[in-house]
Amino acid sequence: MEVIAFPAGPLGCNCSIVLDEAARAAIVIDPGGDFPRIRAELEAAGLRVTAIVHTHTHIDHVGATAELQEWSGASAMIHEEDRFLYDLLPVQANMLGIPLPRRADVTSDLVDGHCLRAGDVEVGVLHTPGHTPGSVSFLVSGRDGSVVFTGDTLFRGGIGRTDLWGGDSPTILRSLRDRLLTLGDDTVVVPGHGPGSTIGAERRGNPFLRG
Ligand SMILES: [Zn+2]
Ligand SMILES: [Zn+2]
Repeated sequence: MEVIAFPAGPLGCNCSIVLDEAARAAIVIDPGGDFPRIRAELEAAGLRVTAIVHTHTHIDHVGATAELQEWSGASAMIHEEDRFLYDLLPVQANMLGIPLPRRADVTSDLVDGHCLRAGDVEVGVLHTPGHTPGSVSFLVSGRDGSVVFTGDTLFRGGIGRTDLWGGDSPTILRSLRDRLLTLGDDTVVVPGHGPGSTIGAERRGNPFLRG
């Protein structure tokens, strides 16, 4: 298992490519924009995309989904409870003053407890609502340890805002406590924005997770 992660799109959402080197297969998480960069990374590594998945459906995380889907033919997935946010993309674009992306053909196939595959790599879906109702985290375990992609639920030293459509503060705190903080301290965290961390570092140092 290998991870290629880089900021993409108007708000610097971290786009991640989780890949199986032997199978040359990959799952793309949060193609927020900058499709040429995403395509270049996939082409350089000779990767076939098996799925396009989203930690949640804010516009800055889905900006290049349609282009990536057209190019790769892969299915694009969100969690059912974020479906309304996909329909609200024009409102999100207006509010944030960023261009409206083309609509992709997204399914609601991200279901808590399910696993997606790229070759031998398994990407587990954890429903972690609160930032949005359909926010999920993706957990990938490899020989060298585990990585969790937390979207805008958990950042290094922070947590996601809950004042946007469907956000809820008690719910995000419950997701953090009951789902993410139950992971091992060595689990690497790739958040939706900004630098990475580990579950242990956040457990000790994140002021929103104390007490
Ligand atoms: Zn967000
Ligand atoms: Zn975001």
